[in-house]
Amino acid sequence: MAQFAVIGLGRFGSACALELMKMGHSVLGVDTNPKLVNKYADQLNRAVIADVTDRQALEELGLDNYDVVLVAIGADIESSLVCVVHLKSFGVPTIWAKAISHTQHLILAKIGVNRIIHPEEEMGIRVAQMLSYPMVNDYITLGNGDYIVEVTASDNMNGQTIRDILREQLTDVQVLLVKRRGQTTIQPGPDFSLHAKDLLILFGQLQALRTAAPKLV
Ligand code: ADP
Repeated sequence: MAQFAVIGLGRFGSACALELMKMGHSVLGVDTNPKLVNKYADQLNRAVIADVTDRQALEELGLDNYDVVLVAIGADIESSLVCVVHLKSFGVPTIWAKAISHTQHLILAKIGVNRIIHPEEEMGIRVAQMLSYPMVNDYITLGNGDYIVEVTASDNMNGQTIRDILREQLTDVQVLLVKRRGQTTIQPGPDFSLHAKDLLILFGQLQALRTAAPKLV
């Protein structure tokens, strides 16, 4: 279990904070807006009303003890930057920050934020990729063109083996696991017989997956 602090409980910050809680982490939420702090007080480990541009108020939160501090302030660029400068001076080990403009990104990068997130652009790209491959339930990009994708086997896959379906892609696409009604088979061999609605996790280069994934649905 890691300790996270989320500064700014707007739409982005609150969604991150609640998801981290669901994953079993400890989360502190901070915002100037008492309505937001009260709204999430019961759902987070700790929720505090504070102006994070106020160095002393921020210092009192003891954020240097947290694994990661996420600065989820976008619109108020000055607050976002001043907060990060303070966090740096307290020696917070890892800072992630949301940016909504190029200028904000440039300055955050200069101050030395560990990761800068552009929620709208990043989500836009993800949605476009999902729209182009509607058969893919979800995916992870591993870099260098490698992907892990999740697909659901369609009804016509019933009884067919992995070899029958992947054919030429058998060497390029690896089936990492198959999930069937709560039962997981790790690295099923080419003779593994599929059922309709099986969940398959595939690994491979984008080009090979592009050919293989549509055959499964
Ligand atoms: P979103 O689009 O995710 O809602 P915003 O940038 O609009 O993101 O919201 C950021 C949140 O950060 C708001 O709830 C705002 O009250 C909070 N915030 C802005 N400035 C400060 C500050 N100086 N101290 C603490 N919280 C702040």
